[in-house]
Amino acid sequence: MCGIIGYIGNKNARTILLDGLKRLEYRGYDSAGIALITENRLKVFKKAGKISNLESIVPQELSSSVGIGHTRWATHGKPDDVNAHRHTDCSGKLAVVHNGIIENYQELKKELEKKGHRFSSSTDTEVIAHLLEEEAKNKGFVKGFFSAVSKLKGSFAIVAISLENPDRLLCARKDSPLVIGIGEGESFVASDVPAFLQFTRKVVFLEDFQIAIVKKDSVEIYEFSGKRINFSPVVVQWNLAQAEKAGFKHFMLKEIYEQPRAVADTISANKELFLKNDVFDKNFNKIQIVACGTSYYAGLVGKFYFETFARIPTEVDYASEYRYRNPVVDKDTLV
Ligand code: GLU
Repeated sequence: MCGIIGYIGNKNARTILLDGLKRLEYRGYDSAGIALITENRLKVFKKAGKISNLESIVPQELSSSVGIGHTRWATHGKPDDVNAHRHTDCSGKLAVVHNGIIENYQELKKELEKKGHRFSSSTDTEVIAHLLEEEAKNKGFVKGFFSAVSKLKGSFAIVAISLENPDRLLCARKDSPLVIGIGEGESFVASDVPAFLQFTRKVVFLEDFQIAIVKKDSVEIYEFSGKRINFSPVVVQWNLAQAEKAGFKHFMLKEIYEQPRAVADTISANKELFLKNDVFDKNFNKIQIVACGTSYYAGLVGKFYFETFARIPTEVDYASEYRYRNPVVDKDTLV
């Protein structure tokens, strides 16, 4: 996981990006970075550790109204200054931030290196910047972005900026969250609403396989194939405290106290499913639980109960590994 933010408008992007990153710090905090377009130059800053480390190296007086930021939780490459995001291409004219994992980055990197691209980090993310540079050479930033995104495998939420078109943020989503905030003469992009909730409540949740062209006074959404999509923004009603920690000291504490409500909400929202589904009439001969982190441990407790009381063999797998397995699952397995 990691936190992404992008801003385009008339306000000071430095402050908006750094504040937004602080609100996203729960999503990742091993390093952070921002890239800003100012006086037709791309200025980049990145630093290992907390957002406050990054804040200390971004000059106060830096004036810019378009930029992107990232707070990282490393998957590829150790958490240090070099691997911190935003990553740039060879020319230093475009920058990207990314949440997720690019699964074919090694193949892409080899191809791009053969074409002369020089890599400076050991992240999977840097391949996006060079691929975009390569694709944009003949097609331009926007068409190049569509074509670069279609070559990526894995999970990603991406935001890119370029000196070629400093009036827009280009975004793409597949299996990692990305939400667009629509303000008055300004637009935001982030992994989660609290990053910009103090500026606007009007949001569009980007869906998988969608690309957005975000300008300060317009948003266009397309499928990866290039087909334009109609969309209606929604107005979120939560306040910042609800959207963040609801007054609790930690997210974990908040989520522990939310459990009774979360279970009740899930059941009431899915009553039909719970009552009508014939799932309870079936005789399953195996149960497969797929989960991550604390849910994985909860799954192990579930295995204990299912096997003790229901006498049904139960397996628990890490969700991140499960897709690479060839599990024995048939029509009588409950997953
Ligand atoms: N895979 C990227 C990296 O290691 C992004 C990680 C993330 O989403 O936190 O830098």
